Amino acid sequence: MNKEKTQRVLDYLDELYPDAYCELIHDDVYQLLVAVMLSAQTTDKKVNLVTKDLFKRFPDVESMAQADIKELETYIKTIGLYRNKAKNLKRMSEVLVEQYHGEVPCSRKALESLPGVGRKTTNVVLSVGFHIPAFAVDTHVERIAKRLGFAKNDASVETVERNMKRYIDRSRWTKTHHQFIFFGRYFCKAINPSCKQCKLIDMCKDKEKQQQMLNRK
Ligand code: SF4
Repeated sequence: MNKEKTQRVLDYLDELYPDAYCELIHDDVYQLLVAVMLSAQTTDKKVNLVTKDLFKRFPDVESMAQADIKELETYIKTIGLYRNKAKNLKRMSEVLVEQYHGEVPCSRKALESLPGVGRKTTNVVLSVGFHIPAFAVDTHVERIAKRLGFAKNDASVETVERNMKRYIDRSRWTKTHHQFIFFGRYFCKAINPSCKQCKLIDMCKDKEKQQQMLNRK
């Protein structure tokens, strides 16, 4: 990867998705944090379906901290890992009430210390919730970064994040993160990417997938 290629990618993403945004529906930073925690190993669409009713019943940190686990589970049982997620949501909310006056902290260290909150969730909350530059790497970002040559195929998520932050200007981290997700979700999909229409085909490393797609009628 070099500056010129990086710019080509960014220009193309600007052309395709000038207004990419976080698709998780939320009213405030706390609800964003809950939605991102729920989104592990499932789709934003499914999360939005469950948070519609979940946020009516438990709209804020205080109500979630006092939630009955079994009742909480009934609201999120259509998504993966729901038992664990319910436990983490309640515990995370209790910690916010007990240690942070019910506010979501805006420091990486504090966020990462919350139950069920990892690096990806922290990065999304920092960038989307607090407008602090961060680059979250989810499954789409990882796949696109590797296909386009920002990282090697066997690179870890940490390496992908480090490389993206190295090649892309800090002021664009949040925007590019959303654009990568849109590109991965709607264009360069895992199984059926739109290689025939892709303007980056010459620099794409996934030759096998390209051949497969180009040979299709
Ligand atoms: S050529 Fe296909 S696999 Fe490669 S980036 Fe474009 S859409 Fe994705």
